[in-house]
Amino acid sequence: MAKVRKSFWKKYSLEQLNIEEWEALCDGCAKCCLLKILYKKKTYMTNISCSKLRLDSCRCSNYINREKKVKNCLKLTKENLSKNLKFLPSSCSYKLLEEGKALPHWHHLITNDKESVHKVNQSIKEYCVSETSVSPENFQDHIEAEISGG
Ligand code: SF4
Ligand code: SF4
Repeated sequence: MAKVRKSFWKKYSLEQLNIEEWEALCDGCAKCCLLKILYKKKTYMTNISCSKLRLDSCRCSNYINREKKVKNCLKLTKENLSKNLKFLPSSCSYKLLEEGKALPHWHHLITNDKESVHKVNQSIKEYCVSETSVSPENFQDHIEAEISGG
């Protein structure tokens, strides 16, 4: 197992990160686990979370096999990050570093507290509903915002 280097997010490019550092970068917001729907020929973000997401923790219940179990699961890699930027929230750590910006003050790498993302309401915990509780014909009632260029 590779070592997570001290302050790696400030010292190295995304390309230079090892697998542990890449994983540690995720803030745990789960915004990328919200369903995107096509409606009237446009792509929209909803407040509906993937059926595999644990709502109490915003963690995936099958993280290791996530992209095999869920067809539209967005498993970010160094190779696919740039083409998926439009689907990521402006607060996403990968997006911020890719754009040359700093991590937010509430990020767990800075606070040393994985709950920080929830404490400052930057996760989807308080406003998402599970895919398991919404009928597909009602998905459009949960539209939050259009994804431009999506
Ligand atoms: S949006 Fe970015 S930071 Fe948030 S859970 Fe997804 S990959 Fe992690
Ligand atoms: S399968 Fe993918 S989209 Fe669904 S909860 Fe897990 S990580 Fe999120």
